[in-house]
Amino acid sequence: MHKDCLRPETASTACPLFVVSPHLDDAAFGCAALLAACPGACVCTVFAGLPAHPQSTQWDRAAGFDDSTQAMRERRREDDRALAHFGARAIRLPFLDGQYGALPDVGRLADEIAKAYECACTVDASLVVPLGVRHPDHMRVGEAWARLLRTGRVGSCIVYEDAIHRAARGAVEKRLAELEAGGLHAAPLDESWRPERLGARALSIRRRAILEYASQLRAFDSAFPADLARPERYWCVRRA
Ligand SMILES: [Zn+2]
Repeated sequence: MHKDCLRPETASTACPLFVVSPHLDDAAFGCAALLAACPGACVCTVFAGLPAHPQSTQWDRAAGFDDSTQAMRERRREDDRALAHFGARAIRLPFLDGQYGALPDVGRLADEIAKAYECACTVDASLVVPLGVRHPDHMRVGEAWARLLRTGRVGSCIVYEDAIHRAARGAVEKRLAELEAGGLHAAPLDESWRPERLGARALSIRRRAILEYASQLRAFDSAFPADLARPERYWCVRRA
């Protein structure tokens, strides 16, 4: 059901990926190096649901939207354009973004991620997930994939650092310590996955993809948030 740690030199030949993205931007923000090196990935966005009744939130207004319907429709279009740069295809789960509703049950979320992974991928596809720090939606996704590992439903994951949220002081270290305490071992992935090591092509794809999320960059009040210029980091996580 999985591959062990990928290596860049094999990436262009065959490295099917199933990338879990909490929101419609996190995969491009956090693991663009993998996506750029492995065309044909599936990017499964968890909190991609459309609220039944339009809502107006502070974040959506800052992003330039009148309500949640307008926001989610445009954010999906942004995501479509960004994923096209990677040659990736979108899978979207119907869970509601935390600004619109309550967090989903961990068990149900784990089931839905596993089902999407098993349906969408060939048997050797790597499951790629966010570390799951700071933002409650990211943390809930982190609890879900940890459950899949602990129960043996998945043998290992490639974990990417949550861009922007990782900047919270101590958040990444705390999460890694929690994984270890919970019986999961995280080994850093080869540094050669950093976009700058992959060359100008990967950097160009990464930048163009990130800039497609114009509404979210507007809400962050930055043309290109500083954290996105920091290197990407990855781990292989499996049961200890
Ligand atoms: Zn997010």
